[in-house]
Amino acid sequence: MNQRTEISTLGEFGLIEHLTKNIELQNASTILGVGDDGAVIDHFGRQTVITTDLLLEGVHFDLTYTPLKHLGYKSVIVNLSDVYAMNATPTQITLSVGISNRFSLEAVDEFYEGVYTACNKYGVDLIGGDTTSSKTGLIISITALGEVAPDKFVKRTTAQKGDLICVSGDLGAAYIGLLFLEREKKIFMESPGVQPDLEGESYVIGRLLKPEARKDIIEFFAQQELMPTAMMDISDGLSSEILHICKDSNLGCVLYEEKIPIHEEMKKAAYKFEIDPTACALSGGEDYELLFTISQNDYDKLVLNEQISVVGYMTEPELGSHILTKGGGKHPVTAQGWNHLKK
Ligand code: ADP
Ligand code: MG
Repeated sequence: MNQRTEISTLGEFGLIEHLTKNIELQNASTILGVGDDGAVIDHFGRQTVITTDLLLEGVHFDLTYTPLKHLGYKSVIVNLSDVYAMNATPTQITLSVGISNRFSLEAVDEFYEGVYTACNKYGVDLIGGDTTSSKTGLIISITALGEVAPDKFVKRTTAQKGDLICVSGDLGAAYIGLLFLEREKKIFMESPGVQPDLEGESYVIGRLLKPEARKDIIEFFAQQELMPTAMMDISDGLSSEILHICKDSNLGCVLYEEKIPIHEEMKKAAYKFEIDPTACALSGGEDYELLFTISQNDYDKLVLNEQISVVGYMTEPELGSHILTKGGGKHPVTAQGWNHLKK
């Protein structure tokens, strides 16, 4: 298992062939995939959503505690999450990588295993990319394409006064996962040989290392003929994201602390760091849940889905953006959350 194959033994074209030889296209819209100057897709009268992300080692991920397979998986997921946040269905990705000679072929294979696992799970075709060497660590760039029926895409600018504010899943756990991994890294740097103590923290660590995109929520909207008025994914914490919707839609909002979905495991973990779980939900990042606004008339349908929580409502802009706390307080929502995280 500890075999190390130098990438130089394959060369660039050999590497690309090796990485892409098992692709089986899954979408009728993929007319031509890897192997030519460009790929060809045809969305048969539907509209195309395009989104792209750049991930840099040392900035967006830390390979000391991120397994390459998880990194490959997550790199795809963060892009698919953006496509779902437009109320679209992802269909293709391109993946470009800058790899240093620190990486063996086996390491790159592990990364691609995660990439293909995500592609298969979400029914997405890998249709191209670019491969280059890097002198500054691993570089990953992914572009995702998706399709949506004409005029069914959902923007950030179109929330309406009185709309309910909803989120999927639970919030804040990925941030606590990061705190655990950073703590263990620090201990390891100071005294190598000490085994990491991550016992019992698999939920929060899993939320950081292996996030999922909310395909199920988009499917639920389609089944129930629901159409959010505004939507985005939560990558920077609920506070920062709801402020985007407020600003872009020229409205204010009220959030209820008690309504914010927090997982029991996350709550326990937050107390170990003496951090307020609500602050994590508001200001922690990388949850990849969906935040959307929707008409109050749709409330009866929304409650059918236990993965959806109503956390507040949109107001006129003059009222500003506030959170009502469990203790009866009222605080302005700020991009850092109302209770700064201890760092
Ligand atoms: P070009 O010279 O046009 O850049 P390349 O030789 O780089 O073409 O790539 C050949 C084919 O392999 C193209 O279809 C390209 O999209 C695909 N490809 C290159 N690198 C990757 C990669 N890392 N992952 C997936 N497909 C790739
Ligand atoms: Mg190229």
